Amino acid sequence: MNQEKHYNTLTEYYQNKLNRKVAKIALNANFTCPNRDGTKGFGGCTYCSKMGSGDTAGNPLHSIKEQYFEMKGIITKKWPNALFVPYLQAYSNTYAPLEKLKELYEGILELDKENIAELAIATRPDCFTKELYEYLEILNQKIPLSIELGLQSSNEATAQKINRCCTNKEFINCVKELKQRNIKVVAHIINGLPNETEADMLQTIDFINSLDIDGIKIHSLLLLKDTVLFEQYQKEPFPILSLEEYVSITVKQIARLKPSILIHRLAADGIKEDIILPKWPLKKLVVMNEIDKLMRKLNIYQGDDFN
Ligand code: SF4
Repeated sequence: MNQEKHYNTLTEYYQNKLNRKVAKIALNANFTCPNRDGTKGFGGCTYCSKMGSGDTAGNPLHSIKEQYFEMKGIITKKWPNALFVPYLQAYSNTYAPLEKLKELYEGILELDKENIAELAIATRPDCFTKELYEYLEILNQKIPLSIELGLQSSNEATAQKINRCCTNKEFINCVKELKQRNIKVVAHIINGLPNETEADMLQTIDFINSLDIDGIKIHSLLLLKDTVLFEQYQKEPFPILSLEEYVSITVKQIARLKPSILIHRLAADGIKEDIILPKWPLKKLVVMNEIDKLMRKLNIYQGDDFN
């Protein structure tokens, strides 16, 4: 555990494991999502941007190779010895025929064999087949995989409100399938979803603790331009978390979180021009510093309230 931050950080994890700086390269493979194309729903999750929550990933008009090397070039100027984790971020990156997925994943690994430490794949729990699980099990033996699954909230009423179109049961089953194949799972959650209480957000941590999950990303809700959620907010406003509220809830969640879970992220990312409300997440470093400050002030460590 990072003694300065009082929780398990990804930077320290990689430092201990590989003794090198490891950087993620967010990619956009131009997929879609069953919650957009009508298979499960239309219009997507209400908060999701037109870029499939991959706004800070590479440009989908460029090939994956171009996206990868463009970012690698920028990162290596700062960290010449860095290793990389290509991260398929936008949309649902297991939502395609198996042959297409194989070509994509293995093509990425071929790009920079010596310098790729892991492959991270963001997707939905309902975008897997038995054949895909079996293939991922084999791929995971060649290169460590990290499958990132959107949960957002464990409250099924909230899930319905945000049009997640995926049940907690599907999430639980997917985690089980992946974990029995030794594949790492990272859950994404959002604090501040419409009308969620602090109790709901803490309950989401309990839900994550009840599963064999390796990592977590916690984001604050962003109201983005051209989203269903922003339209709904204009018609019927709901409370938006202030920085102080987000920090206070997140610190409580960290205290409740299983001590073995790695914290990948504690702040949201978005394109400045697209963020309508709130504006404070734009100062990502401030958000993270405020969380660290409160953890230290209250002398709270990850897992203090885990039971
Ligand atoms: S599952 Fe992901 S990509 Fe699909 S609509 Fe929801 S947030 Fe967007």
